[in-house]
Amino acid sequence: MKDWVREAERLRADFPILSQRHPSGAPLVYLDNAATAQKPQVVIETLARFLKERNSNIHRGVHWLSQEATALYEAARETVAEFIGAESAEEIVFVRGATEGINLIAQGLRRAYFGPGDEILLTQAEHHANIVPWQLVEEELSIKLRPIPLREDGSFDWVEFHAALSPHTRLIAITAMSNVLGTEMPIAEIAHVARQRGIPVLVDACQAVVHRPISVKEWGVDFLVFSGHKLYGPTGIGVVYLRRPWGEKLPPYQGGGDMIRRVSWEKTLFAPPPAKFEAGTPAIAEAIAFAEAIRYLHQRVGWDFIQAYEQYLSDYAEQRLGNIPTLKLYGTARPRGSLWSFTLEEVHPHDAGTFLDQAGIAVRVGHHCAQPLMDAMGVPATIRASFAFYNLPSEIDHLAHSLERVVEFFSPVG
Ligand code: PLP
Repeated sequence: MKDWVREAERLRADFPILSQRHPSGAPLVYLDNAATAQKPQVVIETLARFLKERNSNIHRGVHWLSQEATALYEAARETVAEFIGAESAEEIVFVRGATEGINLIAQGLRRAYFGPGDEILLTQAEHHANIVPWQLVEEELSIKLRPIPLREDGSFDWVEFHAALSPHTRLIAITAMSNVLGTEMPIAEIAHVARQRGIPVLVDACQAVVHRPISVKEWGVDFLVFSGHKLYGPTGIGVVYLRRPWGEKLPPYQGGGDMIRRVSWEKTLFAPPPAKFEAGTPAIAEAIAFAEAIRYLHQRVGWDFIQAYEQYLSDYAEQRLGNIPTLKLYGTARPRGSLWSFTLEEVHPHDAGTFLDQAGIAVRVGHHCAQPLMDAMGVPATIRASFAFYNLPSEIDHLAHSLERVVEFFSPVG
């Protein structure tokens, strides 16, 4: 254990932002990693170095800088393909983030796949990014969303799943890990059932991809999305995985430069995927810095450490927070990622969040862009503490002590 903590302390030094103090003078305790993760120095440097030394637009230039930028951007695509076990870099489309990714797929399926009466199966735990894009399609095509309730402990409910499956099911769109509960969904098993019925599967891997290695090939899924900024990379860059031949089948999401083979007034021919889905100038520097974040994770941190240490932090937090009498933890099922949502009796999450902020602790409070799940849980909001491999058990102690003070502060006098 001590070795793990020493390793976390060593890695922590790679993240300049973490050595700051809160304006109150308290040391900064960053426990909002599920919203966005902090960036290691190498990622910051890669971003800056590209802008200082190689900045140029890609694909269209014959000059040195443009060719260098193109090579770096396309190498980043290769890095991402390898990272998620895709068969080829052509299955990887760069977008702004998971939200844009799901919109890209939803609009493509709207035009080339769905018909009236089709149904999409999701869980009740989806992020709004995996609900609203489908509702936009629902409005136009009279398709239907079928959300499956989770079990009491936050785990996937196979009985509900099988009850909801029908000959009308045309897509399963599901999160691999709830951003509120932290519970993992059995994606490989779901995809296995789906394959037998010829139903494509879309995975929102935003949270899962941060905590565990992922292989789209092993999972056997058709679509997968995630955002770079939650994975220690910059904002403004995200990934869509389109298993072949979906890239060929789906029409482009946006039109413009760089996604065409030939444009004339009569007809435009599109470039093959992935270029077909990347109209206009993409986030070049961000894609390149994101690839650096992936290398950093592999080469400097390693999945073995991430999985073992984050599990330890999660268990430690469960134990420390679980000892606070008026605190309720949500979603205790395993396997799970390293985050906990909870409420305190008689204390509004926003009051708790503000109090914790004064102690230098950054947590997220609110509905976490999962209002249907909040409705199912019967609460308007929770407090969420989410951990990364650079967090320390002493920070969890600080959180637990501060929460005890919150309880004391808000307890009715006399
Ligand atoms: N899906 C999940 C599970 C998330 O946690 C988030 C972000 O919180 C998103 C989708 C949306 O990600 P982004 O805002 O980066 O597009």
